[in-house]
Amino acid sequence: MLDQTKIDALRHEMIAPRGHVIDGEICNSASGAVSDVISPLNGEMLTTIASGSEEDVNRAVTAARRAFEDRRWAGLAPSERKKVMLRWADLIEAETLALTVLGVRDNGTEIGMAIKAEVGSCVGTIRYYAEAVDKIYGQVAPTADSVLGLVHHEPVGVVGAIVPWNFPLMIGAWKLAPALAAGNSVVLKPAETASLSLLRIAELALKAGLPAGVLNVVTGKGSIVGEAMALSMDIDVMVFTGSGGVGRRLLENSARSNLKRCYLELGGKSPNIIFADAPDLEEAAKVSVAGIFRNSGQVCVAGSRMLIQREIHDDFVSIMAKYAGKMNVGDPLGVTTNAGAVNNVTQLEQNLRFVEIAQSEGNTVFHGGARLLTETGGYFMEPTIITNVKPQDSIAQQEVFGPVLAVTPFEGEQEVIEIANSTDYGLSAGVWTSNLGRAHRMIRGIKSGLIHVNTYGGSDMSVPLGGVKQSGNGHDKSLHAFDKYFDLKTAWIKL
Ligand code: NAD
Repeated sequence: MLDQTKIDALRHEMIAPRGHVIDGEICNSASGAVSDVISPLNGEMLTTIASGSEEDVNRAVTAARRAFEDRRWAGLAPSERKKVMLRWADLIEAETLALTVLGVRDNGTEIGMAIKAEVGSCVGTIRYYAEAVDKIYGQVAPTADSVLGLVHHEPVGVVGAIVPWNFPLMIGAWKLAPALAAGNSVVLKPAETASLSLLRIAELALKAGLPAGVLNVVTGKGSIVGEAMALSMDIDVMVFTGSGGVGRRLLENSARSNLKRCYLELGGKSPNIIFADAPDLEEAAKVSVAGIFRNSGQVCVAGSRMLIQREIHDDFVSIMAKYAGKMNVGDPLGVTTNAGAVNNVTQLEQNLRFVEIAQSEGNTVFHGGARLLTETGGYFMEPTIITNVKPQDSIAQQEVFGPVLAVTPFEGEQEVIEIANSTDYGLSAGVWTSNLGRAHRMIRGIKSGLIHVNTYGGSDMSVPLGGVKQSGNGHDKSLHAFDKYFDLKTAWIKL
């Protein structure tokens, strides 16, 4: 249970300026440069973080390479790595509230969601991969008697991880935990507007006994730190979550440098499809509203396109508007808040611009559409429902990454599969129906990495998350995530 008094005691705590974590030390940028951390709760400066340069990236990569090659971490038995990681998870868990409040002040997610999705999920993810790694075996190939074919799992080496601002700890842990459990060294770059909680867990990793140089965090701009990582000749694998534009850039820079493998988790424009035979339309509306508007729509799998069977379209939109109207948008540190702040002012302006574009293309703003609580100095926006949207309209095709829902009616199964598949994305989808055969036809027909049936959101570590089409090319979560962090090495031995 969240306790408002305890949260309020932390909400104004001073935050000391934060440095990079490189080679086991907390350090300034070589240039001494820092950048301001602006809180989306009120537009005020929280603290500063080090603003890294190519030189800082090179220091971190060199430290990571040295740590990897001397096998101070990779050479431990997996059961020993597991002990360190479990200690790390315990240390993070012990700071749950303070770490959640720190993260919320930095990135704006409502605390009711952040405490579970950020810190809770980070702890769970570290434990999951720590527990898994000493249960992974190599293989003996089915060969003739005269040879022995062995297949080893080897850590890939130095992993570069670049993550976004919407769920820094959750997404960060999806990369860090399997990469580290597998024995790799990591250089992590958080988003400029959500670095603080990741820096804190890197400090806790050192306290837990992770050897120096195994986990390095370099903060700063994507255009400088991210570019330097992508162009590094000594990062073996790049794992990324963020926008398609940056994903493309990483691939280009991989081609320009050492052909490092790049695993990309990108954006979405996920269709959430409501058939008239949905088991409970009221429940479908309630869950779908949460599925687009929690964390102010800044969720990669957000169901941002509602496709509603025409015979229930008007009623269903009204029920959704009822639930959207009940959402408590505002102070992300309030325990009753359902949607916190938009992460940064540029994103807020972009969200509002999408509403204008929709209007200019003849769509209807059925609910919301405006900035909220401007007097606080924070970045808040109304849950917004846009109706009268045709499948090719901008609001149906482009990812907003904000609390803006596009609604389109449809008649039947084949038509809705075509509409669902008509964007460049293929991350998530939802289908609501009581007809089992129809549910399976939709699962087959829709091109996405994840599809929900009669629910939306909420899957756990047991299942992979990844996109198809321009939503990405890899998977986080589940044992499948290890594929990115292990190389297979064959030993062919003549007997
Ligand atoms: P972004 O692409 O702008 O930034 C992501 C990260 O890339 C940040 O750390 C940024 O500093 C860095 N970066 C920026 N320019 C770079 C460059 N030239 N080279 C290397 N790194 C660079 O994305 P964002 O605005 O932080 O996050 C929102 C996006 O992330 C949305 O598109 C969203 O759908 C996507 N996302 C996807 C998933 C998923 O699992 N598929 C999950 C969460 C978010």
